[in-house]
Amino acid sequence: MNTHPHPLSDKPKHDHRRLGRELGLFDTDPLIGAGLPYWLPDGAAVRHALEEYIRAAERRAGYRHVYSPVLGKRELYEISGHWSHYSDDMFPPMDLGGEQVVLRPSLCPHHAVIYRSRSHSYRELPLRMAELGGMFRSELSGVLGGLTRVRAIQLNDAHIFCTLDQVAGEAAAALEMIRAAYEALGIGVARYRLSLPGPGGKYVAAPEMWERSVALLTDVLDRSGLAYEAAEGEAAFYGPKIDVQVVDGAGRESTLSTVQVDFHQPERFDLHYIGADGAKHRPVMVHRSIIGSVERAVAHLVEAHGGAFPAWLAPVQMAILPISEAELPDAEALLRQCGERGLRAEIAGPERGTLGARVREARLAPYQAVIGAKEAADGHVALRLRDGRRLAPLSAEEALAGIAAGVEAYAGELWDGVN
Ligand SMILES: [Zn+2]
Repeated sequence: MNTHPHPLSDKPKHDHRRLGRELGLFDTDPLIGAGLPYWLPDGAAVRHALEEYIRAAERRAGYRHVYSPVLGKRELYEISGHWSHYSDDMFPPMDLGGEQVVLRPSLCPHHAVIYRSRSHSYRELPLRMAELGGMFRSELSGVLGGLTRVRAIQLNDAHIFCTLDQVAGEAAAALEMIRAAYEALGIGVARYRLSLPGPGGKYVAAPEMWERSVALLTDVLDRSGLAYEAAEGEAAFYGPKIDVQVVDGAGRESTLSTVQVDFHQPERFDLHYIGADGAKHRPVMVHRSIIGSVERAVAHLVEAHGGAFPAWLAPVQMAILPISEAELPDAEALLRQCGERGLRAEIAGPERGTLGARVREARLAPYQAVIGAKEAADGHVALRLRDGRRLAPLSAEEALAGIAAGVEAYAGELWDGVN
């Protein structure tokens, strides 16, 4: 059982750092270091639900998951181009017995190497490789705060190795996964941005490659019917991107999701597949992230919902409120039933104050189950929904079945006893 320190004050309402601390989601400690937040149990529950949503969506969409280490030899990043184009954002290398090892700034090089480790036929393409993996960015300490600028990042990443003909379809499918995820998460897109290279030396010099990949992504956007704006200077060093922009409570815009086309790394890592003609061909890499970094996604969700997450994401999905000590055994039985159904619940018993005070304290829980003498005698619960609606007493079995069905479907609406 945990106690959420309440009530939440009202200003500024949408600061994920303050909410994160008040709701017991995450925190930082100077001894661990700036930009290195840790996750408390309730925050870890939200993060776990989010990660599982992503993995399940990826499995359904034909992705296979891999794990790769967060370290790699300096040479790996010299080949990928990170060393020459991105080293300002990388941690300094560590010397290990004559070798230099680097905390990785992205997952792409590892995935390219994993692809290269086996020979591939054109029949295996598009080959979709996904990982929720750690990466690192040497942010200056002055800009760190909460979960939006961190030095250790858990990235929802995937790379699709495919033929040129398959790029548009894969990019469009990724945009559709992003749309579905935002609907389940209850968040909105501020704008779609076609991120192009700009002046300066941070981009790979290959004009023909840029022209081809920009044309591909422009075509995907035009066909999607989505309104978008082009922005110079926002591309990755190896290729253009479709960035999905969100706006936080303070009106600041940032990129959450992205779809990128890359001809550069397949070249650098000498990737190939065997075509129908028996000859070697170069695949294209589509990089895509549905929710971007888990840290930034949770920061955005905290601010967008003010802590009142969709039920499937809520750290506590049901608060169980026995009216008196006499109903505690029934509350405990309901808690066990919740656990058996995979629902996250906790009991707020009479030792925590009056029923009114406990209802207020648990007001971010999507469901509250009140158990009085009458409900206990009948094996019923009286459900209160977070939005204030109250349902007629119903059997615990029925209530939990309805709630669990909504959670499993990633429903945005609360279950109201109707279906
Ligand atoms: Zn990548």
